[in-house]
Amino acid sequence: MTQNLTGKTAAITGAASGIGLACAKRLLAAGARVVLVDRDGEALARACASLGPDAIPLVVDLTAPASVAGMLPAILDKAGPLDIFHANAGSYVGGPVSEGDPDAWDRMLNLNVNAVFRSIHAVLPHMIERKTGDILVTSSVAGVVPVIWEPVYTASKHAVQAFVHTLRRQVIPHGLRVGAVLPGPVVTALIADWPQEKLDAERARGGLIEAEEVAEAVHFMLTRPRNVTIRDLVILPQSTDL
Ligand code: NAD
Repeated sequence: MTQNLTGKTAAITGAASGIGLACAKRLLAAGARVVLVDRDGEALARACASLGPDAIPLVVDLTAPASVAGMLPAILDKAGPLDIFHANAGSYVGGPVSEGDPDAWDRMLNLNVNAVFRSIHAVLPHMIERKTGDILVTSSVAGVVPVIWEPVYTASKHAVQAFVHTLRRQVIPHGLRVGAVLPGPVVTALIADWPQEKLDAERARGGLIEAEEVAEAVHFMLTRPRNVTIRDLVILPQSTDL
């Protein structure tokens, strides 16, 4: 595998499982040093033990501002200057609005939107000072398509898309790139609470994708020449009705 990220340091949030973990593995394979950021310390320790010395665990609760405030200093201390920040952590809620928990809105926006903003806000001055850096966000196809069975999640990812696009324009003059990866349904813990019939039906018609495919797309985006930004990369299974 080409070592085209040798010498680079990346930090990925929500990296103890699913898409974040697959991205960490892919960037490590390309030669990067990777700080895996997550609130789940045990899962982080397990993941990093199997990934080798360039995988560095960092426990942060992205919904706690004081915890996020300590994130960049810890990254710099453990891994040195930061080249790549991937705001990936997020959660999911679906179902009819009329039957849902009204607090789900706050929980969803707190992690999927507020924590994305706060964590990027925390690393931006460092990247601007260095006049280089890549910021990626794991959005979702629900960021560009209204998915009727997941209105709260769709609203959170639409907000993320709007932020990514405006941020990108703001930081281009500073030499920074900003992009988003927008997967359709990926086989991770996130969709474990989908009704079994829905999971079975999606699987049967080839409507699911693997986290490794998303990681491959992220690696592709990060290894383009610096004058090229892949703004949005949508990844869908061939058989999808989205
Ligand atoms: P996942 O549940 O496997 O991983 C999410 C990770 O985020 C977990 O390790 C969890 O501990 C961590 N996390 C949750 N809250 C946190 C907090 N407050 N602070 C720090 N870490 C926290 O889910 P995944 O499918 O890998 O999801 C990753 C991203 O991909 C999310 O933004 C999600 O919206 C997006 N996405 C997922 C799918 C899918 O179908 N799985 C599709 C499109 C987009």
